[in-house]
Amino acid sequence: MRHILHHPCALPQAKLACYPAAVLAAVLAALVLLTQPNQPVNVALDPGHSRADIGAAGGGLREYQLTLDLAQRVRARLQNAHLSVRLTREDDLPLTAYTDPNATDQIQAEQEARIAAAGPARIYVSLHFNGGPANLRGTETYFNPERGQDTASTDQVLAALLQQHVVAALADELGYASLDRGVKSDLTAGKPYGHFFGLRGPVPSALVENLFLSNATEAALLRDDATLDALADGCAQGIFEYLAVDAGVAD
Ligand SMILES: [Zn+2]
Repeated sequence: MRHILHHPCALPQAKLACYPAAVLAAVLAALVLLTQPNQPVNVALDPGHSRADIGAAGGGLREYQLTLDLAQRVRARLQNAHLSVRLTREDDLPLTAYTDPNATDQIQAEQEARIAAAGPARIYVSLHFNGGPANLRGTETYFNPERGQDTASTDQVLAALLQQHVVAALADELGYASLDRGVKSDLTAGKPYGHFFGLRGPVPSALVENLFLSNATEAALLRDDATLDALADGCAQGIFEYLAVDAGVAD
């Protein structure tokens, strides 16, 4: 069947010619941005939580603010060693429409958005501070043994190095004997469990619960820049060792 077309825009092949060049250019630029993957980086750092999901609190501190502060300190150390770094968030806002921090589907959507925001990276490290009964204290690091075939040991190695160096840095730099709560499968905390959705991305991943904000002693420590610097040193050292980067002692 043949149709008689009176306007060139009705012809599919002529459609482009009907738009002003500026509009076409803008559309093409947007398409390029959408289809171009993020530049690969060595390390993706995820500052846990956001204004929509503040996390633990204690000593006047809130987890979502402390994680961003720590991530920025870790980034500086990694960049000094010539590693490229991307943070999943640079401000206090969530990446998704987040209205209920207790809704599992919303937490999952936010964590999936974080993995997407991390883009291509060699590793994904999520930074958190713990909360719980006031007597609990110390450092623990989680990994997901189910992330993918043959990857569990890799993720576990990353988690173990972060854990080891964070605990060591607290002892060496602050003289604080953090309780080494160990490296844990995220299964031990029960699934589905909110932020562990972040450990389901495509690269080796770990989640560091640095110290307990709900513990008065550790919250007081976290008010001190020296503590955040020690934690940043420990996280960076764990990453250097995992990536076999010689961070050197030049500085
Ligand atoms: Zn947290």
